[in-house]
Amino acid sequence: MTPLRIAVTGAAGQIGYSLLFRLAAGGLGDRPIELRLLEITPALKALEGVVMELQDGAFPLLAGVETGDDPRALFDGVDLALLVGARPRGADMTRGDLLEANGAIFRAQGEALGAVAADDVRVLATGNPANTNAYIAAAHAPDIPRDRFAALTRLDHNRAVAQLAAKTGAAVSDISRVAIWGNHSATQYPDLTHALVGDRPALEVVGDAAWVERDFIPTVANRGTAVIEARGSSSAASAASATVDAARDWLGRTAEGDWTSMAVVSDGSYGVPEGLVSSFPVTTRDGDWAIVPGLEIDDFSRARIDASAAELAAEAEQVRALGLV
Ligand code: NDP
Repeated sequence: MTPLRIAVTGAAGQIGYSLLFRLAAGGLGDRPIELRLLEITPALKALEGVVMELQDGAFPLLAGVETGDDPRALFDGVDLALLVGARPRGADMTRGDLLEANGAIFRAQGEALGAVAADDVRVLATGNPANTNAYIAAAHAPDIPRDRFAALTRLDHNRAVAQLAAKTGAAVSDISRVAIWGNHSATQYPDLTHALVGDRPALEVVGDAAWVERDFIPTVANRGTAVIEARGSSSAASAASATVDAARDWLGRTAEGDWTSMAVVSDGSYGVPEGLVSSFPVTTRDGDWAIVPGLEIDDFSRARIDASAAELAAEAEQVRALGLV
């Protein structure tokens, strides 16, 4: 079997430190993998240490590792690009500064992917602001179909599943049809209106109408902050785990009767303006995805989806004003 070539950016960072070992241990299945690890020049030394540890794992599926700071060299022929590295917000940075710094990174990476990646490449942005970073990368890779770019909302999805399981006492494996809509930000809308616990509507099992708005939505949306407060550093391991889940399902398939959440380029479905990278409930199959059609959207959901889409539209506008797309 030819190895799956996987690029990981920001590979010496905290998420990278979990992600690489999950990938090498077979997180995407039993196909051998080749890792292409991109870092900024000052982090290459730290990356050397990570590569030593990968070597020391003696992973049977790990067919090769390359490192470097040049995306054009490292992205050559890659089938999957996990864009994790991003510029963190500095104390005196405005949101515009952050978008500009990340815009430059994701523009260069989009261009490099367009020039040298494999024809079948799939690109998943984890680095924040993830939706807008994917939007920028896609804009600079016009030869790669837009449906090959996505941003991670699987961590939000997994958090929502876990909260519902905890509330109802069900196993996570009994929960299905949870959805995350919109931006990977505080405006995201974790939606339980279609969710099932076993074969029963989740909201009926919960039996507490106020819980969703009072507890569930804020807990899911603010979970990252809660982890930072408790742990003293960010939720890197669960972000890595969700990145593996998202890539595995994208290249494989969602379970029969269920779906996942992924931020993808909108085709205008559910009133989300066409072209924005917004989270939707999607089914996946062998590298393709489809937005779940025909879901009924009540007034509460409508307002939440519209608010998050408005935030995405404002980010896209800012990115255009900065000349990043
Ligand atoms: P992390 O590995 O912890 O995080 C990387 C990115 O993932 C950040 O943008 C972070 O966003 C985002 N992220 C998404 N979801 C989560 C989540 N649930 N919890 C935490 N983070 C999440 O950052 P580090 O600073 O440890 O590592 C980043 C690495 O990227 C560094 O080694 C740096 O050198 C590298 N880098 C590489 C670049 C490149 O390859 N060209 C460019 C820029 C940086 P948030 O900031 O909002 O937490």
